[in-house]
Amino acid sequence: MTATFSLGLTGGIGSGKTTIANIFGELGATLIDTDLIAHQLTLPGGVAIAAIQAQFGSSFLTMDGAMNRVAMRELVFSDPVQKSRLESILHPLIRQETERAASIASGDYPIFVVPLLVESGNWKTRVSRILVVDCDEEVQIQRVMSRNDLSRQQVVAIMQNQVSRQQRLAAADDVIVNEGSIAEIREAVTALHRHYLSLAGKKN
Ligand code: ADP
Repeated sequence: MTATFSLGLTGGIGSGKTTIANIFGELGATLIDTDLIAHQLTLPGGVAIAAIQAQFGSSFLTMDGAMNRVAMRELVFSDPVQKSRLESILHPLIRQETERAASIASGDYPIFVVPLLVESGNWKTRVSRILVVDCDEEVQIQRVMSRNDLSRQQVVAIMQNQVSRQQRLAAADDVIVNEGSIAEIREAVTALHRHYLSLAGKKN
């Protein structure tokens, strides 16, 4: 059996991942948003809730049965042992749920949208290709300042918690430079989509 084609899409904050993923989605790929899946795991009734309750206790749940994000953030912020306890619950479940979403995807091919793809280990072995959305760091800063109403310092602090532009580019099979107009980006995405369709064995 030939391996089915899948794409990992990443980029720094404000690089334009969401914008570009949405264009691929319009063209026919299935988007799998790993941040959204991670978030859903810890909502009321989410698949991680029972394990969180068993390991951390009910004080880490809210009245409606979601993970208490404020309490959990405080706990794991300065305690790497607790952080890795939480991650050992969440990471396998994120993996399981993303695989499940890919297995039922009905589009041309699945795209895993993973903001911290390079930071989080084994994605390289799980996808056929990694596409990095790249842009000048100053462009990233300006976009996030206006999108999220943050100061330059706040945006720079977030960027410093992510891998560097060079490290991200080093992990890329393909790169899309998102500095032009949306029309130019659409053209570049369309060309890549055609390429991926052929790798997926689909007709253009
Ligand atoms: P990410 O998901 O990587 O954080 P987004 O796709 O949300 O980035 O883009 C960040 C901001 O920049 C958004 O407000 C988006 O509308 C805008 N943006 C993205 N790409 C472009 C572009 N090529 N031209 C103009 N604005 C863009």
